[in-house]
Amino acid sequence: MSAIIRYADERVYTKSSYVFIEPISLKEVRFYIKKLKQAWDQQDKKKIEEYSWQVLAWLSHGARIPDCDFKLYKKKGNTDGDYGQYVVRTREITIWLEPSHIKRDGEWKHSDVYINTLIHEWVHHYCWVLFNKGLDHDLGFQTRLQTTLRLVRKELPKRKNKKRA
Ligand SMILES: [Zn+2]
Repeated sequence: MSAIIRYADERVYTKSSYVFIEPISLKEVRFYIKKLKQAWDQQDKKKIEEYSWQVLAWLSHGARIPDCDFKLYKKKGNTDGDYGQYVVRTREITIWLEPSHIKRDGEWKHSDVYINTLIHEWVHHYCWVLFNKGLDHDLGFQTRLQTTLRLVRKELPKRKNKKRA
């Protein structure tokens, strides 16, 4: 594992909206997001999982941070409203394809919902690795999330992100 800078200063964390992703990696991220959207439209869970891995791997690579783990589940046993989570201990992102969140009237919702969740959880990983803050939805997190969304999908309309763990 490469050396990781930790910003102990709270002000740096809160005020910094800077998310650095190398342009070459960003190109890959955008490429796999496009593939992910196609897989989504085909409701191909295997490909969704594969391209999600690629998106996350290229994000981390571009940001020069260690990889996070990723798991995609169809259903969550006891739903509490969340459909994505990041566990700091294992550095693992989990997303559930919960019917109520992903589907509406039997139809899958727009892939934006899924992609927003994926990026949201990755920003938790980013905040954890760089700032030791993995789960807060504070100003620093929100700003970084918006910056990352702008970077990876600036051609798409911005959507409001629901608060989630
Ligand atoms: Zn969250």
